[in-house]
Amino acid sequence: MIKVNNIEVVYNDVILVLKGLSLEVKSGSVVCLLGSNGAGKTTTLKAISGLLRPDNGEVTDGEIFFEGVKIDKKDASEIVKLGIFQVVEENLIAGGYTIPANFLRSSLEKVYTYFPKLKDRRGQLAGFMSGGEQQMLAIGRALMAKPKMILMDEPSLGLSPLLVKEIFSIIKRLNAEENTSILLVEQNANMALSVSDYGYIMENGRIVMEGESTDLMENEDVKEFYLGVSSRDRSFRDVKHYRRRKRWLS
Ligand code: ATP
Repeated sequence: MIKVNNIEVVYNDVILVLKGLSLEVKSGSVVCLLGSNGAGKTTTLKAISGLLRPDNGEVTDGEIFFEGVKIDKKDASEIVKLGIFQVVEENLIAGGYTIPANFLRSSLEKVYTYFPKLKDRRGQLAGFMSGGEQQMLAIGRALMAKPKMILMDEPSLGLSPLLVKEIFSIIKRLNAEENTSILLVEQNANMALSVSDYGYIMENGRIVMEGESTDLMENEDVKEFYLGVSSRDRSFRDVKHYRRRKRWLS
């Protein structure tokens, strides 16, 4: 569905952030993109959704295809119309702008079935909602646009463990019931791998590892650096080895 082919992204004409990044999201799948701070995850999402331009960023090399259509030179508004929606925090009603008014009511009802708490909060200003409710609102907005594909940037950020669980179960439901493909950027590698089919790990503007999420969860490097668990004994040799691989990964 989405094919990112060896792209380079430059901010302000000089800062090279993505250095030949390639990834793929198959139709109907959930794919996660993991990596440490500053690796370029948000930049990757913005390159796909066309939201680099307001940040003075540009895809300077490579190509992005959505359902076979080349989109890397298109405006964000055209990309939304093709069916790609990046979750950003705004209000729910504005999310309906790409669909006709008579469908608005039914989509809103659908959003409320996913997020019953939002129904109780109708009419309340988004700024007075908790972090979790705002996150739900942002995802609800994406839902209302009935996209083929949703891009999510750290939906778990700042949420309590309970809410993180709730958000991720909604992501899974959305994918299963609406057949929406999802590209998910996360720091919470454990959660992200548990809801996704496939995962990419990026460092310093490039993909350094990829695989089925179930395989990545079992991978020793991933366990050590991203999942905070390791079955390895920590000898000095291991520490040296660790540093070497850590350099490679971060
Ligand atoms: P985080 O998890 O911290 O958000 P990330 O992996 O999403 O990290 P990006 O936000 O894509 O990383 O940033 C990657 C690099 O691009 C960083 O070094 C950042 O400083 C730089 N960068 C991001 N936005 C801009 C911008 N508008 N202008 C210049 N540099 C930018």
